[in-house]
Amino acid sequence: MSIESFDILTIEIKDNEMNDLLEYLYQNESLLKENGAIKLIPTSNFKNLLKKTPINIPLCSTIQEVKQIHNENLIYSIKTNSLNENKEKKENNLINDDEIFWLLLPNGSNTQHISSISQINSQSLFLKRVQRDQFDFHQLPFKSLLKLSGKKFCNQYSSTLIKAHGPAAIFPLSSNKQNLYQLNYHHEGRLRYWYIIPSEERKKFDDLFTENHPSICIKHDEILIDPLLFQKYEIKYKRVIQNSGEILILSGGILSQSFTQHEILCESIHFSLPSCFYNELTVNSSVCHCKLSASSNQDESIDLNLYNDETIQGYIQKYLQLNIHQNKDSTLDKDTSFLININE
Ligand SMILES: [Zn+2]
Repeated sequence: MSIESFDILTIEIKDNEMNDLLEYLYQNESLLKENGAIKLIPTSNFKNLLKKTPINIPLCSTIQEVKQIHNENLIYSIKTNSLNENKEKKENNLINDDEIFWLLLPNGSNTQHISSISQINSQSLFLKRVQRDQFDFHQLPFKSLLKLSGKKFCNQYSSTLIKAHGPAAIFPLSSNKQNLYQLNYHHEGRLRYWYIIPSEERKKFDDLFTENHPSICIKHDEILIDPLLFQKYEIKYKRVIQNSGEILILSGGILSQSFTQHEILCESIHFSLPSCFYNELTVNSSVCHCKLSASSNQDESIDLNLYNDETIQGYIQKYLQLNIHQNKDSTLDKDTSFLININE
């Protein structure tokens, strides 16, 4: 049986759907889960949510070192080193398609230095204040099911602005923060090539990878995997090419890796939908087979005691089914009274 990779769904999202994005995604949750991601193309009005003044972007201070792991030619380690200016080579070659990228990676014991990635702290290209009926990027975690954990908890889910400084910059294989959902907006620059393992396929991948490569930990080692290995394992992965102005919604519980054609500027934020809490990955998000504590994950973990059928259904009725809500009698308000304090 040959395992094909399929491209994910691309949807031109209307303004009213964008404004009520959580409701829209909730309605399409099974689609999202199955595909691992969907791509949304917003209307030109989306640009009104962005700042008009340019921000200060730091110069590249690191460089990525790519190396094959052992003799296994389908797994690469990605190390980020401080930039030694003598070593820096100005690369202007574009990655014309994803096939070329994989051919350019080093063989054997060779290493290759490629463009790096910087996180631009405390900066966002999205406006902090928008009109009531507009999509509010920064409020996404607070309005999502994460609100059951309270405002203080949600504060750790602020947005992250990222700059890839040149061609073939690599975002290694990783899961979303706490296996939640992620909205990733491509602000400007060239293409970003993504490979996504939907949560349904992830267990199979994790098991096969651990069995075959017990010394490598996906959570603690920065690795990049040639899609030929996914094919070898018969993992149904997805591919997506993200252009500037496009939104990628990454589903909870997935694994993803990506690389860039050239410089890009993108921004992401995490949030939750009900399926996150019916997923064993969320429950076990801090555990990995190498048993090292997740040192890179300094976020307070989600108190799952706050999420049970009653509280989740209450949230869904109050916030994700507005049309139904309007037609219901007043007993609903009573049922969801526990949410009111959280909402304040
Ligand atoms: Zn580990």
